[in-house]
Amino acid sequence: STTEPILKVEDLVVTYGRVEAVRKVSFEALPGSLITLVGANGAGKSSIINAVSGIVRPKSGRITFEGRDITRTQAHTLVGEGLVQVPEGRQILGTLTIHENLQLGGWHTNDAAAIQAVYERFPVLAERRDLPAGALSGGEQQMLAIGRALVARPTLILLDEPSMGLAPKIVDEVFRVIEEIRTSGTTVVLVEQNARRALRAADHGYVLASGEIAHEGRAADLLADERVVQAYLGV
Ligand code: ATP
Repeated sequence: STTEPILKVEDLVVTYGRVEAVRKVSFEALPGSLITLVGANGAGKSSIINAVSGIVRPKSGRITFEGRDITRTQAHTLVGEGLVQVPEGRQILGTLTIHENLQLGGWHTNDAAAIQAVYERFPVLAERRDLPAGALSGGEQQMLAIGRALVARPTLILLDEPSMGLAPKIVDEVFRVIEEIRTSGTTVVLVEQNARRALRAADHGYVLASGEIAHEGRAADLLADERVVQAYLGV
């Protein structure tokens, strides 16, 4: 097809001192798709999406978003351009209210309608809008973290381990929300240690090992690939 990718990462290298966390990784996402980066703890997944969202400065390589070079663009600028990350560990401000946390997601636009849309999607947040966010359960805090990102009306959302530490029933709910976000037209880049689950939701997958892409392909093909299943998905 002739559709241009909304996100293109070419030969990305991320280092921390002498640690080479990401070694020449390339991948792309088509508009409206859900792609996933899976791999073990320490494989480099967070480093990659932190580089894309402007939190970490790459050593080399090139990142293109909607055709523009964003390799050195800072995170706060990217949020205004529609590229938003839901960070690992949720990073909710527990002493602020739920409403204040949502307002932070839209600090650059003060978009009350966007906050209202989040309340409609997550009624549990609306009911407790004036309570400290720290009073929410882990699953509710994940919904708040996702809601806070949605307030910025992203065209591309990056999610870092959204299912981490959550009970299976809540994981189902988180994945349902992720699939809804994608259905609404937002492109999703999902980083997960829960590889099987992530690949079931994704169109396309990249399996990372030691900072490199070990396998890539249509998510359904990766799930059917014995080498991938044995090495990365557990048997
Ligand atoms: P996790 O699921 O634990 O987040 P990951 O696949 O996301 O794992 P990264 O967090 O990107 O992997 O880490 C890749 C490598 O870089 C690991 O060896 C890690 O120890 C190292 N690393 C990550 N952040 C830093 C840092 N700030 N300083 C030094 N080394 C780091």
